[in-house]
Amino acid sequence: MALTSPWRADFPAISVLEAEGQTYLDSAATAQKPQALMDRVYGYFRSGAANVHRAQHLPSERATRAFEATRETTARWLNASADDEIVFTHGATEAFNLLAYGLEAQFQSGDELVISALEHHANLLPWQQLARRKGLRLVVLPIDAQGRVDLQVASGLIGPRTRLLAISQLSNVLGTWQPLTELIALARSVGAITVVDGAQGIVHGRHDVQALGCDFYVFSSHKLYGPEGLGVLYGRRDRLRMLEHWQFGGEMVRHARLEDADFHAPPMGLEAGTPAIGAVIGLGATLGYLGGLDAEAVRRHESALLDRLCQGLRQRTGVRLLGEPQAALASFVVEGVHNADLANLLGEQGIAVRAGQHCAMPLYQSLELGGAIRVSLALYNDGSDLDRFFAALDAAREILG
Ligand code: PMP
Repeated sequence: MALTSPWRADFPAISVLEAEGQTYLDSAATAQKPQALMDRVYGYFRSGAANVHRAQHLPSERATRAFEATRETTARWLNASADDEIVFTHGATEAFNLLAYGLEAQFQSGDELVISALEHHANLLPWQQLARRKGLRLVVLPIDAQGRVDLQVASGLIGPRTRLLAISQLSNVLGTWQPLTELIALARSVGAITVVDGAQGIVHGRHDVQALGCDFYVFSSHKLYGPEGLGVLYGRRDRLRMLEHWQFGGEMVRHARLEDADFHAPPMGLEAGTPAIGAVIGLGATLGYLGGLDAEAVRRHESALLDRLCQGLRQRTGVRLLGEPQAALASFVVEGVHNADLANLLGEQGIAVRAGQHCAMPLYQSLELGGAIRVSLALYNDGSDLDRFFAALDAAREILG
């Protein structure tokens, strides 16, 4: 059955890449952008770039309005209860570092920070460093054979010493949804702060922070079909106010004297320096575009793509799928073949996938694997992309014996 994407033409890069013989299956690393974004960003630069929040002239007023409109759209997208719960950073990675510095004063030696065994380095290393600075214990929730945090074990590890739970919503390697509702409830029952890494989850339809009940939620614009250089940190208002300021400079200050300064409340107080204005405006356009789609149709399309991908991988002998993927990405290994060799041969045939450890080295250590190939899908992919992928995979395996 043909599996076509009604949204493919909205992403001009797909046909440009196709004309070059390229099949893009690396959207979990970064996604292609809709025309709506390009038009908006072009319009912004074309009509006059200006710095925000210093508006004594028209271009600055216009830029500030567009910039703050994205904050409002983002707050609605996440179902935050107010616009000022949205902080713009320069990426998801920066948001995690902001949290690890901003929350430092909340912890005392011996406190426990809980993460899972499948975290991306961005939601691991900042906590690891914080633990070292403050003498905290990093407690790791193990995952089961399907690739999900084991709730039974988790309920024994989250306890009175737990001060923070930082957990991925959707694994960037296994494509598995984590049991967040249960984990957040466990963490809240012991009074711990909860941080959700939504970098992958938000792309596949889960973005209601109030339903999740988390204190903080982080994502990167570029994976959600938006521009690079921009991350979003949602924080419940009282929790945001708990954060120490972590970067210092222009914009975030109310009064500065030579000896000291008074800072703005969040979000401004956490946004030192000139933000990525064009990127923020572009994200607003992307969210506008995504908001106009039939979310249920997107979900069904991605689910059909994933089924076809997993079925094709499972029916090939010597191919092992990692875990049980539930959203549009899957990783696999081929018996006796190094993932880098396979990725090179796929790349030579115009198949863009990602090999290696996907910034989740501890996960690969626990799986006792040196790496894998990840295929990640987006709403613009269709059945023809998968046909080309499987043809290239079979040809590569033939060559590799
Ligand atoms: N978390 C997850 C699950 C990710 O997949 C990524 C990006 N690979 C990040 C965090 C970090 O995002 P960024 O590199 O855009 O800061």
